[in-house]
Amino acid sequence: MKKNILWMIFLCLMIQIVGCTVEKNEYNIIPYPQDLIELDGQFIINNTCKVLYSGSQSSSFVAQSFCDFIQPATGISIDPQEVVGGDIPEGTICFYEDSTIKGIEGSYQLEITPEKILVKSNNSVGLYYGFQTIRQLLPVVVESNEKCNNIDWTVPCATINDAPELSYRGLHLDVGRHFYPVDFIKKYIDLLALHKMNVFHWHLTEDQGWRIEIKKYPKLAEIAAFRDETLIGDGGTSNPKYDGKRYGGFYTQEQAREIVKYAADRFITVIPEIELPGHAQAALAAYPEFGCVGGSYEVAKRWGVSKEVYCAGNEKSFEFLEDVLLEVMDIFPSKYIHIGGDECPKDRWNECPKCKNRMYEENFKDAHELQSYFIGRIEKFLNKHGRNIIGWDEILEGGLAPNATVMSWRGIKGGIEAAKQKHNVIMTPNSHFYLDHYQNNPEKEPLAIGGFLTLQKVYSYNPFSEELTKDEMKYIIGVQGNLWTEYMPTSDHVEYMAYPRACAISEVGWLPFEKRNFEKFSIRMKRHFKRLDLLGVNYFNKVLMPKASVSKVEFIESETLEFSNVSFNANLYYTLDGTIPDQTSKLYKEPIVIDKEGVVKAIAINEEGEESEVLVIKAVKLQFIEGKSAVGNSKGLNSKLCLGKFSSCDEVDVAEGDYYPVLNIQIPNNAPQYNFGIVLEGKLKIHQNGLYKFRLGSDDGSMFYLNNNLVIDNDGDHGMEYKNARLALNKGVYPVKFVYFQGTGGEGLKFEVETPDGSKIDEFTEFLSH
Ligand SMILES: [Zn+2]
Repeated sequence: MKKNILWMIFLCLMIQIVGCTVEKNEYNIIPYPQDLIELDGQFIINNTCKVLYSGSQSSSFVAQSFCDFIQPATGISIDPQEVVGGDIPEGTICFYEDSTIKGIEGSYQLEITPEKILVKSNNSVGLYYGFQTIRQLLPVVVESNEKCNNIDWTVPCATINDAPELSYRGLHLDVGRHFYPVDFIKKYIDLLALHKMNVFHWHLTEDQGWRIEIKKYPKLAEIAAFRDETLIGDGGTSNPKYDGKRYGGFYTQEQAREIVKYAADRFITVIPEIELPGHAQAALAAYPEFGCVGGSYEVAKRWGVSKEVYCAGNEKSFEFLEDVLLEVMDIFPSKYIHIGGDECPKDRWNECPKCKNRMYEENFKDAHELQSYFIGRIEKFLNKHGRNIIGWDEILEGGLAPNATVMSWRGIKGGIEAAKQKHNVIMTPNSHFYLDHYQNNPEKEPLAIGGFLTLQKVYSYNPFSEELTKDEMKYIIGVQGNLWTEYMPTSDHVEYMAYPRACAISEVGWLPFEKRNFEKFSIRMKRHFKRLDLLGVNYFNKVLMPKASVSKVEFIESETLEFSNVSFNANLYYTLDGTIPDQTSKLYKEPIVIDKEGVVKAIAINEEGEESEVLVIKAVKLQFIEGKSAVGNSKGLNSKLCLGKFSSCDEVDVAEGDYYPVLNIQIPNNAPQYNFGIVLEGKLKIHQNGLYKFRLGSDDGSMFYLNNNLVIDNDGDHGMEYKNARLALNKGVYPVKFVYFQGTGGEGLKFEVETPDGSKIDEFTEFLSH
């Protein structure tokens, strides 16, 4: 009997070992299908395979696209054939369009067995997406332009039922700030197709350059498409330097049509954007008569928002724009035309006699209504020609044009408001989808506009805000990543900013929030990088420094320290002895307990051994402080109010002032709006021994002293900013002092304490005396 058991164990082990040698099927699809059942076995594409299609023209087109795609790498040439008699024999890949199948546009069913591959859909887009899924299931070298030998062209078996969550999944490109060649635009579109995205939003006009040929207005190409020189470095500089080089270019109508066709062959719509009424400086350099001041415009050489906008009081500027849009509509068959509508300063309109006259005649109360009028007129014109407008969320100001779709970029507020007004919305919030933001420590990266946006954050986006009802949510039709190119002078740089973040956007648009999982996405992404390598994509893939819950660990007995991994495909390692961690150091799995003074260092390292920067956190054991004062005779604090312009708390401290009592830690009621300082002094009673967490927020500067020692330094001329400190305090009465100053702009002073039992206090009347 014993012998038999041993034999059984041996047999089991053998099965496991033998099982391991069979390569496991992998399903590294981005965006991941809604519903995928993994099956054993593989379909093999070889010379004997047939590619079939059902009767429709579009299924024949998709079948041909598939054959054209696999030919270079596999060397397998297949001529697709029509299915005869509904019979799909073994060894075939069949693209079957069938109007009886249910499903929204882009939905498809895919059955992969060792015998055949069958893609079914009621629409050609769905068949094309089925092709993209098969493409991503093939060995990555299928992307190669040269024939690869000794490869088994296997497709792992699966049953897939797939459909996009959102009907609009886009990527934008600003070609105004920098101009990119037609071949790059095609590559950009190819990558959208790979990720089942369906809109290329082509931002064609800017203050710094007009990029589309308009036959009726040839000076747009001759003058507006070129600037004399370009700003070097950061756009925020007050001492601008220029490169002295003429820069520009434009797409001919023929090239634009070629791009539209190229995209349509990949089931992608090109939505052109002609900015109005703002971002018009380049156009006005060519045709100054359509601006309010009528002359001395130049194509902008530096970044930022220009005051030079189309004149809203001049009928001729509307004629110009309508002529332009007629030619644009002739090139671009898209249902939508993007008309911009963002960042239109009203300075010129408020001074211009024509614009003022228009406001007077139309009985507008301000220039926002004039902007609304402008957009409304253009919308009417486009609606008359069977098109709808999309505009940036500024088009909400002064009232939304009746059929407009809103692109919410200044966060999600505009999108929510538009959805509540029953307008379609495309979510492209700068918090999650502005791909011009940094993806790493700025010191390690080429100059960007600012911000910090990791792949993980992009992926975490949920387009359906809780502020919307279910009925309102149906107006959220899509998502889009935006690439503003002030700081992306080359095509390579555009790709570096776009990828892999655009991969995450594709999945945000495709999969419902609850079906997404960043860890699983990261694993698929790793394989996907090999595909992007073969496609020659210059993507970002650096290991990012971990983040910590605190900048310093201060403890009495012990304290936990938590790290978060903002990289993907990387593990976190740490040391507690001040040495630089490596792969042999402790692997971070859960918050660590710190009970000794010293230096904690953490690092992220990926499987290739690439390392992030080292995060350094100091651990400090807090010594208990004694409070030996006596409680004062009066309640609250004594406050000194000093009038004048201050730039630091120290100046306030020594300034002359008048004294008033205050009950809480607050700005006294009799303080003016601007230019004053206060000093609050008195005693704070502490009831229990333990760790106290202090938080001091102010706009502008503030400081907090306890026992005559500076505890929080939040000094300086700044907006609302918070600083924290921890102290171990014994029961007792402590002298405290707060110093604060307000210059101009917003004001605020906020003090909070978390006590050892975890309760939070921001009302201190009962603890204060002086
Ligand atoms: Zn005007």
